[in-house]
Amino acid sequence: MSRVFNFNAGPSVLPVEALETVSKGIIDFNNSGMSILEMSHRTADFDAVIKSAESNLRTLLGIPEDYAVLFLGGGASLQFTMVAMNLLPEGATADYTDTGSWASKAAKEAKLFGKVNYASSSKDKNYTFIPKTLNLTKGAAYLHITSNNTIYGTQYRTFPKPETGVPLVADMSSDILSRPITVSDFGLIYAGAQKNMGPAGVVTVIVRKDLLGKSGRTIPSMLDYKVHAENVSLYNTPPVFAIYVVSEVLKWLKAKGGIAGMEKINERKAKKLYAAIDSSTLFTGTCAKEDRSYMNVVFVLKNKNEDLEKKFLAGAKERKLVGLKGHRSIGGFRASIYNAFPEEGIDALVKYMEEFAKANS
Ligand SMILES: *Cc1c(COP(=O)(O)O)cnc(C)c1O
Repeated sequence: MSRVFNFNAGPSVLPVEALETVSKGIIDFNNSGMSILEMSHRTADFDAVIKSAESNLRTLLGIPEDYAVLFLGGGASLQFTMVAMNLLPEGATADYTDTGSWASKAAKEAKLFGKVNYASSSKDKNYTFIPKTLNLTKGAAYLHITSNNTIYGTQYRTFPKPETGVPLVADMSSDILSRPITVSDFGLIYAGAQKNMGPAGVVTVIVRKDLLGKSGRTIPSMLDYKVHAENVSLYNTPPVFAIYVVSEVLKWLKAKGGIAGMEKINERKAKKLYAAIDSSTLFTGTCAKEDRSYMNVVFVLKNKNEDLEKKFLAGAKERKLVGLKGHRSIGGFRASIYNAFPEEGIDALVKYMEEFAKANS
């Protein structure tokens, strides 16, 4: 099989080594005589899978013992609701930074449970930068950020610090495991797997245990972190297959040398592509340079021209460069270059951009 260079934003490219292992497990998992798809989540075989995923995630991110690690369904979007339901008491205020569509969707759900203060917003500049000054609420229930803005292509290089005692909550769906973080700086981290960690269908939640059970409201079991933590993600049937794929991706990441090494590669990949954009006669970036994402590289034609955009995408496809169409809210192009995206794909894109610019300027 000849693989394309897959620039899709999510679901997105996965390491081929992990896919090969998983393809065997679909037929016969671990010589059990059955597929992982046919297996009970209460078996010793699956217990080993979910334990491996948790323990490798703990090692890779340096997750302290007083944090629970959960693997849940419902995607990152359900976390917009669960975060507020579990951490925002009635009448209390949560601070949100409004740095993109996902951030504002998260805030929208929180308004169903308490008060939301926008600590900052870059909406009036079409989310092209990360605001550096924050208007924080004294005694806020938490401060919520989106670490990487998948759609607009911005990323926090340094995380904001809430006042002492206020937990920092982060949606890290599109950059978890792309760089080292200090988990103890956060009260809660969540990430849908389908960007940088695995397939669609599972979301990872990392939460400091002492924050749970304090909302003062009755929470349905399936939406209660405490219930999931007490049942180590096995309160009901978890997304077995998605967790299996995540466990294999984490093994791959560990074998690659972990996230410190991955960060260097990600930085090199992104800088190569941004350098090509900045020196181009035809293309230009859309975001403030200091806030540019190393995961989602957004670029447009200097002079908008839909026919030329289509031509670029068609030519890209011929060269096996797929998934480059920009998000509908910006247009242009987006190259999502997560951990598993090979550097040769960046080189191929840069070469194509140069040739295309020469032929069409
Ligand atoms: C993709 C994405 C989401 C939504 O994920 P779902 O799993 O589709 O709910 C939320 N936040 C960020 C930052 C994302 O990139």
